[in-house]
Amino acid sequence: MKYFREISASQLLLWITLSFSAVTVQAATPSVSILMYHHVSEDTPRVTSVTPEEFEAHLQYLQDNGFNVVSLPDAIHAIEQGTELPEKAVALTFDDAYLNLYENAAPMLERFNMPWTLFVSTEVIRETPTSFMSWEQLEELKSKGVTIANHSIDHAHLPRRQSGENWQQWEERIRNNLLSAQEELEQRLGVENRLIAYPFGEYNNRLRDILADLNFHGLGQHSGAYGKYSDPQAIPRFPASGNYANLETLSVKMAALNLPTLRVNFSDTLLTHSQTRPGLGVTLEMDDIHQHQLQCFVGGEPVSPTWVGNNRFYIQANNDIPIGRSRYNCTTPSKTQPKRFYWFSKQWIRPDPQGSWPD
Ligand SMILES: [Zn+2]
Repeated sequence: MKYFREISASQLLLWITLSFSAVTVQAATPSVSILMYHHVSEDTPRVTSVTPEEFEAHLQYLQDNGFNVVSLPDAIHAIEQGTELPEKAVALTFDDAYLNLYENAAPMLERFNMPWTLFVSTEVIRETPTSFMSWEQLEELKSKGVTIANHSIDHAHLPRRQSGENWQQWEERIRNNLLSAQEELEQRLGVENRLIAYPFGEYNNRLRDILADLNFHGLGQHSGAYGKYSDPQAIPRFPASGNYANLETLSVKMAALNLPTLRVNFSDTLLTHSQTRPGLGVTLEMDDIHQHQLQCFVGGEPVSPTWVGNNRFYIQANNDIPIGRSRYNCTTPSKTQPKRFYWFSKQWIRPDPQGSWPD
């Protein structure tokens, strides 16, 4: 079964109207680069950490270089309603509610007066109080305007079925998980948003459809700029920790543009074990893009896109993708905005023969 999404005719008409009226100023669509952090600390695993010094440098860079840090709910509202969004918009997100964020990041964010969003796994923080923020600390942050949102109750690999579980039982368990986390956030903190960051960034088509059905937005851990062409249940985020903390490369991502995908075709984000080279088809609005400048990568290796006509391309890995999470990435420069790149990513999960995969 092919899964695809398309923008509606009315959205397309609005886009055409807007792009013609604004064509002398800019042809690129409004975009938000959502940055993803976990730890802000010197003594936590490097891959998910930035040091307090690095983090301060990120905020200073944003402030000094014309970026506008916006709240995630405001950004989503503006993208979906087509209302004004500042140029070079960036949103800051933090997963898991580690105590080091409260100690190291929160005071800096307050000093820079930048909004941020914190995704909380409600049972995890209760069971490991020495590593995570308390409900009182979360309440304090919320009272200062921080957006607190859903990261499931237990930080499970949500698309993975338990042994002996059929898809119907899986769906019931997952709905309960997400809704009970949401209920606790609402009751304890008065949370009103309906935002979920998928634990490990993992989702499959069934999970994204559950979120859509429950009227949640979903955020992944695949790179790319967010905009109206993004799937609202697979919103991309740029990792900003570990190797990705370097401002030389992170600054390009901060200024990234939402690739105008009119249609994206693939079988499912969760593959079967034997699906080793998944295909991805993308139809683009080409106004601000040169076909020959589009570059795609699979696990850091360049893969040549195969163009079908003038606005559709297809990519597929040249070698088998590994067990676990991997991504196809595509970027292309804007014709009209110097030094700014459209950025799109598709995540895959390939299970082992038992249907599992590593953290
Ligand atoms: Zn997490």
